[in-house]
Amino acid sequence: MRVALVTVGDELLAGDTVNTNAAWLGERLVDRGAAVERVTVVPDRVSDIARVVNEYHAEYDAVVVTGGLGPTHDDVTMDGVAAAFGREVTRSEEALAWLEDHSGYARADLAEGTADIPAGARMLPNHEGVAPGCVIESVYVLPGVPAEMKAMFEEVAAEFTGERRHVERVAADEPESAMLDRIREVRDRFDVKVGSYPGDTVRVKLEGTDEDVVHEAAAWLRERVETPESEE
Ligand code: ATP
Ligand code: MG
Repeated sequence: MRVALVTVGDELLAGDTVNTNAAWLGERLVDRGAAVERVTVVPDRVSDIARVVNEYHAEYDAVVVTGGLGPTHDDVTMDGVAAAFGREVTRSEEALAWLEDHSGYARADLAEGTADIPAGARMLPNHEGVAPGCVIESVYVLPGVPAEMKAMFEEVAAEFTGERRHVERVAADEPESAMLDRIREVRDRFDVKVGSYPGDTVRVKLEGTDEDVVHEAAAWLRERVETPESEE
């Protein structure tokens, strides 16, 4: 399953908030076997959200949108997602009833717009906060607050599927440029995808659908690189 992530928020673009939601969702989705093929950050602007959601909905099997759900002036994600589908936002009776039962809020105390979701969407209750999320066709709309986003994602995690990939990592204490021959050879010899990430050491990531093949490829490479002292 090919998935695109859309993270909404001016503060993400300005660098005021680090986009930890994208990193966390990427890891969880890949764990489940889904392939994350896009991560896009858009401002709190209805037209930008609508355009990207519309495009990704056509292109990917699922889209996960996070941020901008609350009732404040800059929370416009539900309007943007509704616009992408040519729908209105409507007050969700189901969300209001859930909030009355679970959050202790009376309807009258909730800020205007708190329980608005696109017409016809499936409501997702917010177990860690107030503003509900929703699912509309294959577009999942989750909160921005990381704890709220994580709890809501777990409610729908089973809907993201795919063939699980196995991963092994090999660290090498050599310049990356000196390793090109062995990186090429491991790719030729084994049916694995190889990623090479230089830093203090070069971290080579090997992944594939057959666990034994990934293991053999990692063992082959490990024997042929300088092992960092910390791992000896
Ligand atoms: P609320 O209903 O509480 O207003 P929300 O869904 O509207 O939540 P935002 O207003 O977008 O969420 O953001 C709430 C908080 O979560 C902010 O502090 C914001 O910086 C943080 N946040 C939003 N998006 C992300 C993200 N992608 N990664 C990490 N933190 C984020
Ligand atoms: Mg908000």
